Amino acid sequence: MNLEERDLKYIWHPCSQMHDYENFPPIVIERGEGVYLYDIRGRRYLDIISSWWCNLLGHTNPVISGKIKNQLDKIEHVIFANFTHEPAIELCERLLKYIPEGLTKFHFSDNGSASVECALKMSFQYQQQIGQKEKTKFLCFSDGYHGETLGALSVGTLDLYAKLYQPILIDSNQVRAPDCYRCPFKKKRTSCSCECFVFAQEIFKKHGKKTCAMIVEPLLQGSAGMRMYPPLYLEKLRRLCDEYEVLLIADEIATGFGRTGKMFAFDHTDVSPDIMCLSKGLTGGFMPMSLTVTTDKIYRAFYGEYERHIAFMHSHTYAGNPLGCAAACGVLDVLENENILEFAGERSSYLTKKLEDVLLSHKNVGEIRHLGLIHAIELVADKETKKALNSSKRVGYQIYKKALHLGLILRPLGDVLYFNPPLIITEDEIDEAVSKCFAAIEMVLGK
Ligand SMILES: *Cc1c(COP(=O)(O)O)cnc(C)c1O
Repeated sequence: MNLEERDLKYIWHPCSQMHDYENFPPIVIERGEGVYLYDIRGRRYLDIISSWWCNLLGHTNPVISGKIKNQLDKIEHVIFANFTHEPAIELCERLLKYIPEGLTKFHFSDNGSASVECALKMSFQYQQQIGQKEKTKFLCFSDGYHGETLGALSVGTLDLYAKLYQPILIDSNQVRAPDCYRCPFKKKRTSCSCECFVFAQEIFKKHGKKTCAMIVEPLLQGSAGMRMYPPLYLEKLRRLCDEYEVLLIADEIATGFGRTGKMFAFDHTDVSPDIMCLSKGLTGGFMPMSLTVTTDKIYRAFYGEYERHIAFMHSHTYAGNPLGCAAACGVLDVLENENILEFAGERSSYLTKKLEDVLLSHKNVGEIRHLGLIHAIELVADKETKKALNSSKRVGYQIYKKALHLGLILRPLGDVLYFNPPLIITEDEIDEAVSKCFAAIEMVLGK
């Protein structure tokens, strides 16, 4: 049996209809370097989606792997209750310089969904302990994504992931999210006053009093199809949350660490959330780790004599894993010493121009939008009416398969193709990705 067959004998892959693998077996990757992955047959793939958005600075980055190797010979893991270690302390001290003002306390978990669970439980317990007993509900956006465990799904509203599980999810209320490409007020995201904020005002009026927290993906609803909305919306939301004493949770798992052109999406605003979830880019995609960062005010509500039973009884075995912390410190080393954000900013303008030159005139390209290096190409049936493609045709998936054949990993979100490359991508690599993307689109949709 070859490796593909041995894989399929035992492995159930994530987010996949395994039947699709019959004609399209898994690709066995042997090694990676920079933006490229290499399979066992010597084929090369440009990883334009950063291996599910986590590979921040290229595969096998020597600074990050060096940090992990060095840590590995000291201590691989230690219980994090009552014990600590320098990599965790160093990480918090260094992150403090970058995270939005007011966030000073770090709770560790080992994946993005877990950091969301932590944020939800923390905000609920906080409200209980300051006497706001009626605040038991959560608010979230429509078409939001926060992970796939049951708590995270309860505030995630994409039918694809959540619908089936509705009967067993926590009841939460939704604010209709901004949808700038198909704006219900016919405005433009670059010049609007967030007219759609009225949807938030209506829902807060109805449910704000009994809500403990609202969770959002700031500026970018990733899984919804890389939908982007203006910073002003977050500033308005901050004020509305304050008015109703609702905590604001920023899920920066996808947007953190320079993805949006600034260190964090909230850096595009002049406000801070109460709780922030970080993962993905945190370790550059090297180790599973996440953080739930919060304010001293929230931390204080859990602080007191043991007998009061107000502690936050929440833990994961691998919380604060030293290898993860070492990797995250390595990420900060690279970001700081190699001027990455500035470099990525220049590549971002280059990529925008390139995509617009090559793709914007195509009959099925409805919009090319971008935030930092993240660029999304929304494919539609009709550019004028913005009518969507027939989803049963799985056009995005067809293009994905063609692009893979050409050596580009362009895993789409429905019929939205996107580029979310490692921040170290070069102009030549961008040229290669854009021309392969264009070729794949033409193979499926014609000229
Ligand atoms: C990926 C992601 C998550 C979930 O993280 P996992 O590590 O996959 O559990 C949550 N929120 C957002 C915005 C994400 O992009």
